[in-house]
Amino acid sequence: MIRVHSVESLGTYDGPGIRLVYFLQGCNFKCLYCANADTIELKGGKATSAEEVLKMAENQRPFFGKKGGITFSGGEPLVQAKALVPVLRTLKAQGFHICLDTNGSVLNDDVKEALEFVDIVLLDIKHMHPEWHRKIAGQGNERTLEMAAYLQEIKMPVWLRYVLVPGYSNQTEAIHDLGKHFAAYENIEKLEIQPYHELGAHKYEHMGWTYQLKGNPVNTLEQLDEAYEILSGYFKEVVVN
Ligand code: SF4
Repeated sequence: MIRVHSVESLGTYDGPGIRLVYFLQGCNFKCLYCANADTIELKGGKATSAEEVLKMAENQRPFFGKKGGITFSGGEPLVQAKALVPVLRTLKAQGFHICLDTNGSVLNDDVKEALEFVDIVLLDIKHMHPEWHRKIAGQGNERTLEMAAYLQEIKMPVWLRYVLVPGYSNQTEAIHDLGKHFAAYENIEKLEIQPYHELGAHKYEHMGWTYQLKGNPVNTLEQLDEAYEILSGYFKEVVVN
């Protein structure tokens, strides 16, 4: 059984085509800007079986077309890798396209087994500099970079995602370092720049937490343009989402 926080039908944001998106409960990071802060707590969520996921996926199969399918996001779905494996195996046996949205910080035998059923990974890079990554996510980026290297080794198609937070992750040098680090990764199909927003801030209040980025400015067009220009020099496709 996986523990599910919520489910989104007809999603167009998390992976290729039209997707059924499962947001799993629990995350090992605590990012300052997390838009789904209510998914961070490791406890909770609705216990959901592979059969239940399959039933919903079959209901929505007509909408998926050639590119769409099912995305597992969160939270951090790989925190539940062991429970996720039978779900992915069941879906893959029925031919569904599977996408995994991850912060890349968990890499063990269960994760490696789970990845055998995955078609594409959305890998969130919070920052290239460990000290800034720690400020943003509460932990360094070493394991995420190890995961990126592993995904390259197994030739897993990857879309990188980078949230551009003014004052935190928009340093010109850090953006160049992101490009330099991954420029030679042939498995990276695309890089998505995600503008910073405060949309999840109310959830912090609801949970009795402090939203530490309160009042932090959103991106200017110049900041987004600069990041786009720099990263376009390293990646074959860059989009601003
Ligand atoms: S990794 Fe994702 S789900 Fe986890 S705290 Fe950060 S933004 Fe939220």
